[in-house]
Amino acid sequence: MNKRVVLASYPEGWVTESNFRLETAPIPKPGEGEVLVKNLWLSLDPYMRGRMSQQKSYVKGVEIGEVMTGETAGEVVESKHPKFKPGDKVTAPSGWQLHWCGKGEMLTKVDASKAPLSYFLGCLGMPGRTAYFGTKDICQPKPGETVVVSAASGAVGSVVGQLAKAWGCRAVGIAGGKAKCDYVVKELGFDACIDYKAGNLYDNLKAACPKGVDCLFENVGGEILDTTLRLMNVRGRITICGLISDYNAKEPYGLKNFRSILVNRLTVRGMIVFDWVERYPEANRDLLELVIGGKLKYRESVVQGIENAPKGLIGLLKGDNFGKQLVKLT
Ligand code: NDP
Repeated sequence: MNKRVVLASYPEGWVTESNFRLETAPIPKPGEGEVLVKNLWLSLDPYMRGRMSQQKSYVKGVEIGEVMTGETAGEVVESKHPKFKPGDKVTAPSGWQLHWCGKGEMLTKVDASKAPLSYFLGCLGMPGRTAYFGTKDICQPKPGETVVVSAASGAVGSVVGQLAKAWGCRAVGIAGGKAKCDYVVKELGFDACIDYKAGNLYDNLKAACPKGVDCLFENVGGEILDTTLRLMNVRGRITICGLISDYNAKEPYGLKNFRSILVNRLTVRGMIVFDWVERYPEANRDLLELVIGGKLKYRESVVQGIENAPKGLIGLLKGDNFGKQLVKLT
């Protein structure tokens, strides 16, 4: 039997476990052109909070009773598609379930001999590509410039800072707590990391960015974005990648330092990674090269079992994860 998690109700404010329901159903049989995949890993991502809502967004939300949306990494068990055979490792738009069956065209084959399979959901997958294009194309950092990134120990942020270092910049992270900040500096090689939970964010960030901030890769929004706006240099660039501090808020944070965009002639651009789909091979190639060369370090936070996926998502939204959040399905 297939096990899956469906959306039971829309949350108001914070997500709770009662918003989900675990179900079983027969494992589907592949038809012509279809592939059956056994999922080994499920990626949990902050965007899932947005899908648990009927608010207008860049993609339609999950309906009540539908399988929760999500990407998985797994193995082909049966194939009626010429490009796939049993044993192939793939990523799939499965949602929160143990098996997925659908058109072969929706699968991406990955080479798990080069890196662990789970990495293709993280630094070599969607979060890695988000970091790559948001930094390269929007922040456009030049050697010697200062790049600040929030949620710096996470799936996207950790890659942003390491790319900034690889491209000759000063990388400054912002993260919650000493353990995460120590990791960002000592393990990932950022120049500095500010613990926003310790208070004095403005003074501490200013001290860590003596030449001001040229690029901000924003994952959090709210007070962190507002504070960093005050430190931006003339003609600075800001990538608005995520606003996680607002995802469970009933009222969005109101920015006070909008004026910085005007006086500093900033470029501020929102991004959705799908807009770069034609260039995914470029990011996949460059990120894999960095991982193989030991220049891109990466950490995972793993919960065990599909039944614990709701707990994992709630923890991710609260910052309990330390690195890319995954569910190990077997
Ligand atoms: P992370 O691995 O960074 O995990 C989320 C982190 O956000 C938590 O660990 C926590 O870190 C931080 N966080 C949560 N709540 C708050 C808060 N109130 N204030 C400050 N920090 C908070 O997740 P991802 O790397 O997967 O995603 C990072 C961001 O990128 C998200 O906003 C996500 O929506 C966005 N994203 C956008 C994409 C796009 O195409 N635009 C694609 C992929 C991701 P800490 O403990 O340090 O506070």
